[in-house]
This record gives sequence, structure tokens and C-alpha cells, in this order.
Amino acid sequence: MKTPILVIFVDALPYDRAVNIVNALKADTHLKSIPGVGYSINVKAEMFAGLKPDDVGYFCEWNYNPDNRSVWWVNLGIPILERLSSFSHFIDRVIHKLITLARGERIYAIPYRILPMLKCSGLTAYERNFEAPTFLSDGNFERVLYSEEGVNDKKVFDKALEKLRKEKNNRLFVSTAELDGVMHHYGMSCQRYEDQISLIEESTVNLIQEFLSIHGDQAKYFLFSDHGMAPVLEPVDFDISQYCGQPGNESYVYVIDATFYRVWINNEELRTKIIDAFGSVNHVGHILTEEERIKYGLVDRRHGDIIFLLNESKQFAPNFFGKEISKAMHGYDPELKSQAGAFVSNTNSGFGGNISSMSIHETIRAFL
Ligand SMILES: [Zn+2]
Repeated sequence: MKTPILVIFVDALPYDRAVNIVNALKADTHLKSIPGVGYSINVKAEMFAGLKPDDVGYFCEWNYNPDNRSVWWVNLGIPILERLSSFSHFIDRVIHKLITLARGERIYAIPYRILPMLKCSGLTAYERNFEAPTFLSDGNFERVLYSEEGVNDKKVFDKALEKLRKEKNNRLFVSTAELDGVMHHYGMSCQRYEDQISLIEESTVNLIQEFLSIHGDQAKYFLFSDHGMAPVLEPVDFDISQYCGQPGNESYVYVIDATFYRVWINNEELRTKIIDAFGSVNHVGHILTEEERIKYGLVDRRHGDIIFLLNESKQFAPNFFGKEISKAMHGYDPELKSQAGAFVSNTNSGFGGNISSMSIHETIRAFL
């Protein structure tokens, strides 16, 4: 018979906040889950499919699309939209909402001038329609996903427990995401955060104990997260167009994520100017070196000719996803202490060591 396996993914659970779960379960393993580079969409591709950005084909969600074909009336409308939005943030938000509705995909706060040149790429690796094989697809796991149940941890865990009791699933996967949002919005020194941690502690312990009581001693469980989080203390306002002129297919294109600033260079004559422009922010971050890009599996130029990464506690604001800083953020140097997620299991890997996203994939695969 196949080994019964329960996998629980808790987005953003920091390493040290799993300690009550470890104690309640008398778990044999509690490791630091060291994220891959970038945000959840890439870390999950590493953890579930063993694919780094170069292998999976995307880095972050919005990327330059060199094949874009600008429609004349869109180009004509851009100055009008920019003028309207300059009157107030409210008008800007309303227009972005209307474009989101019209396109059927969320465009956040992406500037009108840049939007036609970008595409939203990437799919979360544990979704049912993710194309590459994952340990979930190869292991025939039943899935209870927050993307289908809603960003409500209680609801997701209740559904998973109900399903397990009824169907006695031999392979079950549960994903939650509410904690990540709570930390971004409320920070990590408040009751709202503590309440969410308590809910996760109680729900995961209940679910794991139920799984073990149904399937006995040979059953394995893995609970892990994709990253930790660090408080944000300082906004960084950097507008490269003030140094390098208007972006475009004949000049350069940029995307501002929360902690990354990526630039695609379409005119080589601008390269020095663009690199010099980053001199104004090199006290709060750095351009990834070629060695770092090789280490992270981020060599492909379609991820950006220049990828600038902020230091811990900083956040670009405004960025393409909002005007303000979050209370807490991830997506910094993956080896920072604050960025470590948790990995808990009844397999015997021990306590306190590191496990990388790629190793999580290999570790679970070995039990399929
Ligand atoms: Zn997040």
C-alpha cells in the first residue's frame, strides 16, 4: 500500500512560530524552510515542482512582453488617463478598477503607459491546472485549496477535516493563505496576528492527529511554509523615468515589485544611464550579480536585464501593486533569518537545520 501522506501548506508561517505545533505533535523534525528567490509564486514552483525561475519560465507575476502589439486607441487614451488620475488617488483607483473589470484580470496599480507592454505570467504550482508535474499530481493527492474555498483559514481547515473524516483520504493536501495577508496588513506585533497563529496551531494539530489516527504509524505528515516575514520600516520612492525618460519598446521597460525593481533594456545606448540611475538607491539595495542570478536560477534575460533587490525592512512605494508600504514584507535575500519559513514533519530530519525549497520537493517525493 502507498504511504499515507498529509501535506499542509501555510503561506508565510515563520520558522519560530511553528514551535507550539512541534511541541503539541511531538514532531521529529522542525527545520528552517529557506525560500527560493522572489515571492510565493516562484517559491511554490520550487517546493512543489522542483523548478527554479529559469526552469518554470517566469519570475514574479508581471513581466515584459516583447511581443506586445499596442493598439492605437489605447496609446491615444494613455495621456487622457494619466491626466485624469493626476487629480486624485481616488480617480486613479477607480480607473484601475474599471480596467481590471474590462480585462478580466487584476491590474493593481500598474501605470497606464506600461500596462500594454506587460503580461501576467505564472500559475501557482499546487493549482490543478499547473502544467508541470508536481509531487501532488504524481502522488495523486486530493486537494483542499484556499483558491477554491476562499482566503479564510478556518473555512479551509474545517473543509479539510470534514473531507478527511468522510473520505479517509490516503493522500491529502491543504493550502492556506490568510496568515500572509494578515502579516502584510496588520504586522507581526498585534493581537490579530497572534489570533491567526492560534487558529493555525489548533487547526493543523487537529487535522494531523486525525490523519494519524485514521492511517496509523506508517502515515507521514509534512507541514511547511514558503517564507517568513520582516517588518517594513522605510518606503523607497524611486522613479527611473525621471532619469531615463519615457519607457517603451524602443527604450526600456520596468516593473516595480515590493522589493524588486526589474528593467528590460530595449536600447543598449541607455544601459549606462539606467545602471547609473540605480546609484541613487544603492544604499538601500543592490543589482543582483551574475553569480547571484546563477545561484537563484534567474539567468534568463526575460526575467529582466537588471534585477535590483532591496535590503530588509525597505519597500518600494509607490510600486505596481499599491501606493503604500505594507506592515511586513517578504521577498528579500532568502538567507536572512527573518525570511525562514517552517518545515515540520514526523520524518527524522531533526531540529534547527535548514531545508531549501528545492529540497522540500525532493524530500516529499521520496515518500510517494
Ligand atoms: Zn505575501
